[in-house]
Amino acid sequence: MSTHGFAAVLPRLLQNTDTIQALMVTCNFAAWDSGGWTEALPDIRRLRKDGVGIVAMKPLMGGMGETPAGRSALAEALKTPAGRTRVMSAALRWVLQNALVDTVPLLIKNQEELAASTTAAAGGLTDADMRLLAAAVREASPRLCRLCPTCSAGCRSGLPIPEIMRALMYAEGYGNLPRAKRAYADLVGGAPVAKCESCPGCTADCPNQVRVHDRMLSARTHLA
Ligand code: SF4
Ligand code: SF4
Repeated sequence: MSTHGFAAVLPRLLQNTDTIQALMVTCNFAAWDSGGWTEALPDIRRLRKDGVGIVAMKPLMGGMGETPAGRSALAEALKTPAGRTRVMSAALRWVLQNALVDTVPLLIKNQEELAASTTAAAGGLTDADMRLLAAAVREASPRLCRLCPTCSAGCRSGLPIPEIMRALMYAEGYGNLPRAKRAYADLVGGAPVAKCESCPGCTADCPNQVRVHDRMLSARTHLA
């Protein structure tokens, strides 16, 4: 089973651990260390104890295409191929050392990415990796959605914010604009996000400092 909404499927999962062999669920440094997954971890441990294998979804934080707009040295470094490779390598090592994860699928598009992933996987997670990941996620936070989905309950218009964020991630993180547009059209057809433009004030608060209103407008601009 694969899910973007762990809490919604949890009761069914717990009742069917005899037939469900594996669960693919969001698992990356940003989501588990600074996202809203802390509460889910005991249930994930329990599922695993019951024999359900855990497959990491978005292990590289969605490609972190939502790179920071700032001009700090780190923000600038993250925009370069070498800087991104350093962060992605650390992210891969983080998920590989996670004892709750059984399988880590990766999207590898060319020989260079294959070589970088193989090299990264061969090394152990270091303190320098952890510092780099923490700093990179902090820099990217205004745009880096963890898909948790705490903000949704606060939206005056009931927008499917995490799903819209995910559509944005397909474009920015995976570089797959057609897929992003399809996902966006399936969700909202473009119209509901117009509500953000006339909203008297965004009440969809994000505990990770993602600028929800800006991101919704960005989705409308680029994906509608
Ligand atoms: S924007 Fe919403 S779904 Fe994304 S990290 Fe923030 S609260 Fe979670
Ligand atoms: S600005 Fe958009 S996301 Fe924020 S509360 Fe209003 S409709 Fe919801």
